[in-house]
Parts: sequence; structure tokens; C-alpha cells
Amino acid sequence: MTDDQTTQAAIDEYLGTRFWSEDQLLRDLQADIAARAPRINISPQAGAVLATLTHAVRATRILEIGTLFGYSGIWMARALPENGHLDTLEISPVHAEAAREWFARAGLADKVTVHLGDARETLARLSPAYDMVFIDADKESYPHYLDQALRLVRPGGLILADNIHQRGRLADSEVDEPGVRGIRTYVERIAVEPKLRSTVLPVGDGLSLTVVGGSA
Ligand code: SAH
Ligand code: MG
Repeated sequence: MTDDQTTQAAIDEYLGTRFWSEDQLLRDLQADIAARAPRINISPQAGAVLATLTHAVRATRILEIGTLFGYSGIWMARALPENGHLDTLEISPVHAEAAREWFARAGLADKVTVHLGDARETLARLSPAYDMVFIDADKESYPHYLDQALRLVRPGGLILADNIHQRGRLADSEVDEPGVRGIRTYVERIAVEPKLRSTVLPVGDGLSLTVVGGSA
């Protein structure tokens, strides 16, 4: 390791133990994902961002698009108040079933609804208003998910989206594939559309953060 990497590792350790350390349940969940699913859950650091923002907007209703095994969902649901609720959308029956088990093990079964099906269909059936929407499913559909998030989120609410960097491919002009194109369209829109105030945090694979205009 270079000196810079050593310094960064020490800082990550110092801050991680204070702000994004995982309890045994989250470590067991990571191991379960590693054993039988793609390891595409958010990082603990991103989880702490989601949890802190849940508090910032005093969220009671959160919508997540892309559940996997519930790792990001647990970070958010734990930050919800007693009467809070997370709706999370998942197309894979295997993932949805695993997520239901993990939410139950985390004591969050009453706070979370896992909606099995294509998010495009489930979203059409959902009603406003959500305080926060987290987009983390198929990348080519991000522009469509943004339309739905804008319909469903309250004024002053937040829309977040994962994998904005596309592991370095976002700004690579050689890359032209549907997922990356979907992310580029999403980025253009949150950058320029009236009433949206956005930025992208360099956390994990890039996490965008959009405040939807108007006050709560
Ligand atoms: N947010 C999760 C990771 C999600 S991975 C976490 O950080 O823990 C992306 C998930 O989106 C996968 O489980 C995949 O099955 C699901 N997915 C892909 N296309 C979808 C669609 N059209 N509708 C709903 N879920 C979808
Ligand atoms: Mg992701």
C-alpha cells in the first residue's frame, strides 16, 4: 500500500467504527449475500448516509426500488420512527423471500413491505406521499423510476440513486450500453430539471441526492 492508501485506511477505520459499523445481524446478512447472491448491496458507509437522511427529512414513509436481501432496507428501516414504514420493490422471488426473512430476523417485519414483482408495475399502483425514495434496481429504467419518484415524493422530500459512477464507466465515451445510458439520462435530468436540487456523493459506486422543490 502507498502512504496515501495507508492514511485513507486508517481514516476509514477511525470513522467507520464511529459512524458505519455493522452489528452481527448486518455481518451475517453480508455473508448470506456473499454465499448465494450477487454482492451488489450498498456499502456500510452508504447505509449510514441513508439512515442519516431518513432522520434529516423525518421520514415516516420510504420507498425503495431494488431490495436484494434487504441490506440497504435494514439501514433505512432502523432509522424510521415507530410508526414509520418502508415499501421495497423486488422482481426476483428468491431475493424477495430472502429479504422477508432478513427483515423478520431484524425485528422489522411490521415496518417493511416487500412487494414482489416488476417495479414498473408495482410503482403504478403506489400512491403519494413518500418522504424519501431510494432507486437501486435495473439501471436502464432509472429515467422511468425518476418519473415515478417525482410523482410519489412529497415536496421537500429526497430522491436518492445508487451506482451513478457505473464503476468508472459513466464518463467513458467509449461505453454505450443501456444501463450506462439510463444513468446518464438520469444524471442529466436531476442536474437540469426545474425544482430539483442535486449532487452526487462519492460514496460506494456514487450516490446521487436530489431534493425535490417546495417545502414540506
Ligand atoms: N438496494 C439493495 C441492492 C439492490 S440490487 C441493497 O443495497 O442492499 C438490485 C436489485 O434490483 C436486485 O435484487 C434485482 O433483482 C432487482 N431488480 C432488477 N430489476 C428490477 C425490476 N424491474 N423491478 C424490481 N426489482 C428489480
Ligand atoms: Mg446499487
